[in-house]
Amino acid sequence: MSTFKAPKGTYDLLPPDSATYLAVREAIAAPLRGSGYGYIETPGFESVELFARGVGESTDIVTKEMYAFETKGGDRLALRPEGTASVLRAALEANLHKAGNLPVKLWYSGSYYRYERPQKGRYRHFSQVGAEAIGAEDPALDAELIILADQAYRSLGLLNFRILLNSLGDKECRPVYREALQTFLRGLDLDEDTLRRAEINPLRVLDDKRESVQKQLGDAPLLRDYLCDACKAYHEEVRELVTAAGVVFEDDPKLVRGLDYYTRTTFEFVHDGLGSQSAVGGGGRYDGLSEMIGGPALPSVGWALGVDRTVLALEAEGVELELPATTSVFAVPLGDEARRVLFAKVTEMRKNGVAADFAYGGKGLKAAMKAANRSGARYALILGERDIEQGVVQLKDLESGEQTAVGMNEIVAELESRLG
Ligand code: ATP
Ligand code: MG
Repeated sequence: MSTFKAPKGTYDLLPPDSATYLAVREAIAAPLRGSGYGYIETPGFESVELFARGVGESTDIVTKEMYAFETKGGDRLALRPEGTASVLRAALEANLHKAGNLPVKLWYSGSYYRYERPQKGRYRHFSQVGAEAIGAEDPALDAELIILADQAYRSLGLLNFRILLNSLGDKECRPVYREALQTFLRGLDLDEDTLRRAEINPLRVLDDKRESVQKQLGDAPLLRDYLCDACKAYHEEVRELVTAAGVVFEDDPKLVRGLDYYTRTTFEFVHDGLGSQSAVGGGGRYDGLSEMIGGPALPSVGWALGVDRTVLALEAEGVELELPATTSVFAVPLGDEARRVLFAKVTEMRKNGVAADFAYGGKGLKAAMKAANRSGARYALILGERDIEQGVVQLKDLESGEQTAVGMNEIVAELESRLG
């Protein structure tokens, strides 16, 4: 062990477990790639101001959880706590919304940072795969994203997740509701911090996880009863399209989510095997965000799914992903001449798409065969001096133990055909 450990609230992804993470990212990305979403990558840090305006001054993310710092050049930056503000900033900066058809559909995958109290499923460094559809107001787009996330989870074999759905209204009806909620909250027995929050952003109080707060919210007015006709019709259309796709959801009139920019459609994916860190993903419509960060009006919708919690959900359900074998063939040379010959063969196999590894470090037969077994390879290729003289190599099936001599010039084709 070295003197150093991974920083608090972080962990390293190591083989073989890391393969599951890659497979989860891939499974979430696959339905997006197949639905017109293009890959975008943005920097790991942005101007603090982008998140302050884009995520919201009064959110936990900005007030408590952001890794903000000043550079040597005097710039105020923050490690990205989420993806949407950055992706929209990048799209606007590159004028993607003017270049072609709307919506601009983008997907991303990467690391995010929040200074949180570390617990199982809650880390200071975590990864998300996300999708954003920028510049269109169409209930089918909201439905598409919900359906694609459902498809991603199902392709992983997850069953015990639920989709919670709500509408947060728009700039017409939300202010009216906000007033009503504020009036209600002022009458409650709340601590000073929470009362202050009720003044700045009352909807956030609905998301308070404390029992003492939740139990006072039973009679809180619900946004559902304040939605304007346009929002009501929009929401009904989203619900119908999702239902028609065979995707089951639950209406959750209290769902608000932790970011300020959401309007209308809001949803969360929760998994029942995860205890209190139950949200595996979430998203919604953010029609006002572009203007909040200085862009034109661009109604948009998106989601982000947490990779770490999705892996925990797989564990909770006991799902073992079928991961492709990393190494198919393990080469064992006996002696210097054999090493040169076999190394060249391994290189040739790799070029032909056969996943091959090699016994490095001049190991003896016994240690090398142990390494071959540990690699998970199906076949070992063993080459000794006599094999070289005879122009053959020993092909050993590590499952059956059967061993046959195969001509040096035939071995690559033989392996390709055996591995299918
Ligand atoms: P929570 O209510 O659990 O704090 P959140 O609403 O802050 O979640 P989002 O900002 O919506 O989460 O992020 C989307 C997804 O990213 C979450 O559903 C979760 O799976 C994951 N995520 C968010 N914060 C963390 C974290 N600190 N550690 C691990 N995963 C996280
Ligand atoms: Mg959070």
